[in-house]
Amino acid sequence: MVFRALGGVNERGNHCLLLDDERCPILLDCGLGGPKNPYPRLTEDIARRAKLLLVSHSHLDHIGSIPKLLELGFKGRIITSETTYKTAGKPADWDCLFIAPSQTLEVEGARITAHRAGHCLGSLWFEIELSGKRVIFSGDYLDGGAYACDPIRGQRADLAIIDGSYYGKQVPPMAESVQRLTALIREADGRVIMPAPKNGRGLCLHALLTTLGYSVNIVGKIQTTDSDLWLKDRIGTIVSDPDGRAILLTDKDFTASETVALVESDSQRRLIFTGNLDPGSVAEHLALTRPNTARCFYNAHITQEEIDALVAANDFARVILFSSAKTDYPSLEFPL
Ligand SMILES: [Zn+2]
Repeated sequence: MVFRALGGVNERGNHCLLLDDERCPILLDCGLGGPKNPYPRLTEDIARRAKLLLVSHSHLDHIGSIPKLLELGFKGRIITSETTYKTAGKPADWDCLFIAPSQTLEVEGARITAHRAGHCLGSLWFEIELSGKRVIFSGDYLDGGAYACDPIRGQRADLAIIDGSYYGKQVPPMAESVQRLTALIREADGRVIMPAPKNGRGLCLHALLTTLGYSVNIVGKIQTTDSDLWLKDRIGTIVSDPDGRAILLTDKDFTASETVALVESDSQRRLIFTGNLDPGSVAEHLALTRPNTARCFYNAHITQEEIDALVAANDFARVILFSSAKTDYPSLEFPL
């Protein structure tokens, strides 16, 4: 078996990895994004040979190139959670084999077990056993947030591909981020505008605001769930109050002119950014120029210290951190 990083190693956005096994080539995620190469380095040959695609979660940087993969001739099964399929908008052309947390599937000679990754609704990490090798793929991973996580602990693997989004970055631990964000919201007495993705941080920020006693106007739609499976605490029905004191914007990239107009016309509300801001983006411009604007980190991935602790808590022969432009692996493929 040969490991090939087709995207998302030494870079971020176009996450796509290949376990190139003779019997059953397996793709791991198929994302879109990143400043340099938005598409993974997929070829017709790879698309036709791959028998399985494991999808960790429904964020665009993990699923956005699936249409391209299908165009190139992929005829394999897509293994993911039913919730991920739903939050991805139930794409009609995905030939899915659903896997639930703690379930093991034996398919095409591979043995695949899924666990909850704690990053957003439906997010999974995988144990893959194939041709006598064991591989762990974390997907985007957060142990300690609002989403339930089955920790990666006590695992033995020939290769572990671990979420390195915060590798080499100064990121506070989750508890500290929540404390700082709470102080910023309280200072503004709940009069805040917060951009947040519809699946992931959105649900967490909504929970934080309502716990602090503030009503929330959700501009856009937050994905939610009736199931207890994916969340640590039941959040209950998500209610959007048009007169809410706080505003959550799901158009976090400010693609619609109305979103920009809303934050520009309402300078009484403190605009708080909680995620990464892409250089040159509208969001970055607003963060730099709009008065009454703050930035406060809200963790969606494990920190550098947590990555180190995770690696120490397992027996991995080799570790590859993906989703970071700060790593500098000399080779993007190697035999296992
Ligand atoms: Zn993600």
